[in-house]
Amino acid sequence: MKFWFFPLALAVLASPAIRCASPDHAPLLAAKARPPQSPATPPSTGPLVDRAPRRYRLDPEKRKKAIAYSRDQYILYFVDFVLSISIYLLLWRTRTAAAFRDWARRLSRRHIAQCAIFVPLFAAAASLLRSPLDYYAGFALDHRFGLTTQSFASWLGDWAKNLAITAVLGTLVVWIFYLVVRRAPCRWWFYFWLLTIPLALGFMLLEPFVIEPLFFNFTPLEKTRPALTARVEGMLRHAGLEVPRSRIFEMDASTKTKTLNAYVSGVGASKRVVVWDNTLRKMSEDETLLVLGHEVGHYVLRHILKEFALIELLVLGLFYLGYVALIGVVERLGTRSAVESVGDLASFPIALSVLTALSFLISPVVNGISRHFEHQADQFALEVTYGIVQDPNAAEARALQTLGEEDLADPDPHPFIEYWLYSHPPLDERIRFAATYKPWTEGKPLELVRQR
Ligand SMILES: [Zn+2]
Repeated sequence: MKFWFFPLALAVLASPAIRCASPDHAPLLAAKARPPQSPATPPSTGPLVDRAPRRYRLDPEKRKKAIAYSRDQYILYFVDFVLSISIYLLLWRTRTAAAFRDWARRLSRRHIAQCAIFVPLFAAAASLLRSPLDYYAGFALDHRFGLTTQSFASWLGDWAKNLAITAVLGTLVVWIFYLVVRRAPCRWWFYFWLLTIPLALGFMLLEPFVIEPLFFNFTPLEKTRPALTARVEGMLRHAGLEVPRSRIFEMDASTKTKTLNAYVSGVGASKRVVVWDNTLRKMSEDETLLVLGHEVGHYVLRHILKEFALIELLVLGLFYLGYVALIGVVERLGTRSAVESVGDLASFPIALSVLTALSFLISPVVNGISRHFEHQADQFALEVTYGIVQDPNAAEARALQTLGEEDLADPDPHPFIEYWLYSHPPLDERIRFAATYKPWTEGKPLELVRQR
């Protein structure tokens, strides 16, 4: 969905902690995966400290591969940004958006009907223009590096589903946006910002029920791993998080990717814990518990709420700047490109360009906040599993090393890359912390979890 239906995307989808991937994953939102590797490690039964890494290390061949893959992803991130803006500018300057608006007007006088015609047309045009990049970033690249199991037909199906979701949700958001712009030409940036709060919360609530099942199947974990489910429940109790057994799931990620992952998603009644089947195959139960402990940390430490509030604040500033820029552009260039006013649907590509550019500029801030929360979640995982897992430090370090190898995570990212687009601290930093953070051996109290 990329930069699509922007306000929701920014407030919800762009927030890494809201639907956080496991303790390590590649820094980008692009699909990631990993090669078929060592068989699953057996559940730990004895002292494993000696086998636990203290740094993120890869053999020379894998290191070369990881660096090449990461470099491609970094380039794609910036190419994606430039391409998105270029497509919006193209649809504006060639008057394509204005033509879509004219068709919509001819077919209906009702604003909502016009949006329901305009948005799918616009979404289809933009998606087709960016499809070569989507194909390369979401399919070809992962196949080149042996990271995916998805067939082209399945990928194409997902691409089409994304387009359909974008068209439906985009129609709703665009309809509300232009309604507000027309009713309050000078204050829309504030009123629309207010409306993004219930919209984003509603999306977070419904996403696990409505969107996720469109792409994957979920099986209650107690059916496949009853013993692990009991241990997960014990860890959740210790963390003070209530999730019924029936909402702890295994997801069939292996149908599409080789990636390892887990997450806690939804809010309130839709809250649920999900482990990817690949994770269960490649990791021991102890390591899986550490991965889940990290995800649970985001919930218990209220990272979702804090990050949501911080991002909403940033979005408020951004909407104001967008409002000023949009008026400036439409007044200067609008009439020459058949855009009648800011409240005209044909101004949509200009609005998207402005907001995409502004959101790109704030991404280092959002990622900086995210890295802080991710570090806290790592610390939480170690604390919450202390007493449940025999050696949390070793299990966490091994889990991160496995995730790094499987994800082809960059062993040595450039500081600028880390600053601009890393939502998690670099893996080497995380493994060093995992191997050395043990307040229990020094008689110090736990900071984030109550002592057992
Ligand atoms: Zn996380």
